[in-house]
Parts: sequence; C-alpha cells; structure tokens
Amino acid sequence: QPDAQPDPQAGAAVKAADRAHVFHSWSAQELIDPLAVAGAEGAYFWDYDGNRYLDLTSGLVYTNVGYQHPKVVTAVQEQAARLTTFAPAFAVEARSEAARLIAERTPGDLDRIFFTNGGADAVEHAVRMARLHTGRPKVLSAYRSYHGGTQQAINMTGDPRRWASDHGSAGVVHFWAPFLYRSRFYAETEEQECARALEHLETTIAFEGPQTVAALVLETVPGTAGIMVPPPGYLAGVRELCDKYGIVFVLDEVMAGFGRTGEWFAADLFGVVPDLMTFAKGVNSGYVPLGGVAISGEIAETFARRPYPGGLTYSGHPLACAAAVATIGVMAEEGVVENAARLGADVVGPALRELAERHPSVGEVRGVGMFWALELVRNRETREPLVPYNATGEANAPMAAFAAAAKAHGVWPFVNMNRTHVVPPCNVTEAELKEGLAALDAALSVADTFTE
Ligand code: PLP
Repeated sequence: QPDAQPDPQAGAAVKAADRAHVFHSWSAQELIDPLAVAGAEGAYFWDYDGNRYLDLTSGLVYTNVGYQHPKVVTAVQEQAARLTTFAPAFAVEARSEAARLIAERTPGDLDRIFFTNGGADAVEHAVRMARLHTGRPKVLSAYRSYHGGTQQAINMTGDPRRWASDHGSAGVVHFWAPFLYRSRFYAETEEQECARALEHLETTIAFEGPQTVAALVLETVPGTAGIMVPPPGYLAGVRELCDKYGIVFVLDEVMAGFGRTGEWFAADLFGVVPDLMTFAKGVNSGYVPLGGVAISGEIAETFARRPYPGGLTYSGHPLACAAAVATIGVMAEEGVVENAARLGADVVGPALRELAERHPSVGEVRGVGMFWALELVRNRETREPLVPYNATGEANAPMAAFAAAAKAHGVWPFVNMNRTHVVPPCNVTEAELKEGLAALDAALSVADTFTE
C-alpha cells in the first residue's frame, strides 16, 4: 500500500530531473514518458499521484520475491553495516555463502560460481570460458533469443536490437530453435518440430565445421523473445549434439532461473545439465546487481593451473551476495518455487486458456510456472501478428491501446512486440493473480477491436 499521501509536486520534480539528465536504455530520448515511481511493495508499485499498479512484469522479470521483501532488505542493511565492500580476490563470508547456496541448487556438477554484475557480462564470460576451453572461435545462438546489451551478448541476441550493433560479431551464427506456432509449414506436432529443430541444428553445425564451434548458447526457456517452452526431447537432443561434436553447451538462465518456471532452474524441467549456466535477475530479486556463471567440473579444471583471463571490480559484491543469500533463504523457507509451479498450473494456465477462447486477438497461450506469454494476432487463421515485427509509432497502436487499457485497470503489463507476458513475482498470491487476469480480460477486449 502507498504509505504516503499523493505528492504530485514531488513526482513532477523527479520527472523533470529524469527528463533533463537520465539517458534511458533502448529509447528515443524525446519520445518517452517514464512514470515517476514513489514506492513499491510485494507485487505492487505506485506513483506520486496516488495510482497503484499490480506489476505483471516483475520489473524486467527479476523481482522473483517481490519488491521490498523485509528479509532481503534487512540482509542488505546488515551487510552494509558489517562490510559494505571488499575486492574479489579475497574470501568474504557473503560471497562464499552465496556461491555455496547457488552451487547446491544448480544441476549436475555446476559447482564453481564466477560472479558478474548482471546477465550480459555472465554471457560474455561464459563464451570466453568456452572459447578458451575448446580453443575454437565460433558461437551458435538462436534467432529468437535475448542474451544482453553488451557487445558479444547483443550480437548473440536474435531480436532486432542486435541490428544497430551488429558489427564485430565474427563467429556468431544463429539458428532456428523450436517454435511450433511459427513453424507450421514444417511441423504439425511438437515431436515433428523437435525433429525439425535438431536436424536443422546438426546441419548448421556441419556447415560451420564442428571443429570451429566453441559454444552453443540457448535460453532454456527463451524469455524476452516469447516464452517458447521447448518440446520434450529438444534440450536432451542439443546436449547429445554438443557431446558428439565437443561443443560447450551453455544454458542462459538469466531470466528462467531461480524459480521463474516453478523449478529452481528451468534445466530441471527437462533433466538436462549444461557445461556452463548463466544466471542473474532472480538470484537476488535484483535488489543489488548480481549475475554469474555456474561452471562444470571439467571446465573448472581447464583453469585449475592456468589463469582465467577475466574479472570485474565488483565481482561477487558483498551487498549483492548478501541479498542473494537472503533471497535464496526466502525462496526456500516460503515455498516460492512451489508457489510459482502450483499457481502457474492451477490458476494462470487455465485462466489464460479460457481468455484465449473468448478473445479473437489471442493466437496462442504458452508458458510454465510464473512465465507465460499471450501471442496477439490480427487474424487467428493466418496468425498475422497484431502489430508488425519491430513496429513503432502508429504501427504499434494496437499494442499501445492494449497496454493503456491494462494500466487503466491498475495493472502494469509486460508488452514486447505483439506479445504480452504474464510474469508476476513468483510469490504472488492467487487473489493478486485474479486481479491481474481480470484486467487482462478487459485489455484483450480492446485488442480484439484491431482483429479482422
Ligand atoms: N540473458 C537473458 C536470458 C536475459 O533475459 C537477459 C535480460 O533480460 C540477459 C541475458 C541480460 O541480462 P542483464 O540485463 O542483467 O545484462
């Protein structure tokens, strides 16, 4: 609940300073109108005018235990009082404890943790480790993917944000990972799509030259690109191909990890163990920037007597690690992972499928845990997206109208191209979900008016 009276004047001052001096990511600076946020708690945030929103986005899909969880806030305060910062070359309690708790939960023998400041740099380092481990140059990644905004990571990303920085990307090769809804001329069933994608991948590896490929990097469940849960057998098939050709298999769990899919890691849904696994976001609910790479025994061995040539000043920052220790503790004690699995299966999935029956703008519903996407279309038969790929301005009006309608109902939706994602905190309650779903119902009625 907002604990202070609305204060539009204070909001206007925050906004004015922002507009004068903050250079926003991914934005045309004069075409944006950021909301001034006064506070947040749990699944809600509020502005200075007294408007409160249910956050269906978890920020950028990272506040897995919600905003301002008291145990995490207290842990950061206590760490700040005890030892705010200490350089990475030293053993520090918060850092070693965070690494231990993470390693205990990662699949297989991914027991060594290299800490970064976020997801993109985790991906950068995973690729560097793979190149040094194999002595090979190339990296394979999926077209429908997001791996981060730094140079190597944006080049690996599949979406249009890559285009502006797509230079110096020698050695990155993209492939088509499974997506049955948009593969219908090649496959009618999940089994066929799985076979299509694996055959395409093996052919890609063959034409690139297996001896030139260091790493294959995949989001276990692609997030930003549309939450396409891979068909059974796909990731196991990729694991086999990587073993066959000596390629390092990297799963990017920056978004899918730490409870999002209703498992500690999405890899657990499929029983697959990669050689390297990246994480960030949910590891500490994003309270203090933190990411990392979980490293297998074999790859750790490569750097046992040979220095790993990479590091960051704030690697394993004590404040960030204290937040991770507390977040993992909260997730374990409060059954947050189980909550995401149960409410995803019992509430969100059935409710979204029911919305799809009533709203012609919904082309497909897909997801798992607290990780769901609605694919909005102009025409269900042709599957033409509700807005063109990478639309801006007028061309994007239907999605803008959809988002405005949700906000008018007190719900902040996640909108990306022609999709809305339902990705609330993993500790969201059933009542909160019902509030969110009712607003989506109303907003979809607006989207329906743009269908043909
Ligand atoms: N990898 C995945 C799968 C992501 O979803 C993201 C961010 O959304 C990143 C990497 C980049 O993380 P960051 O923004 O912390 O650099």
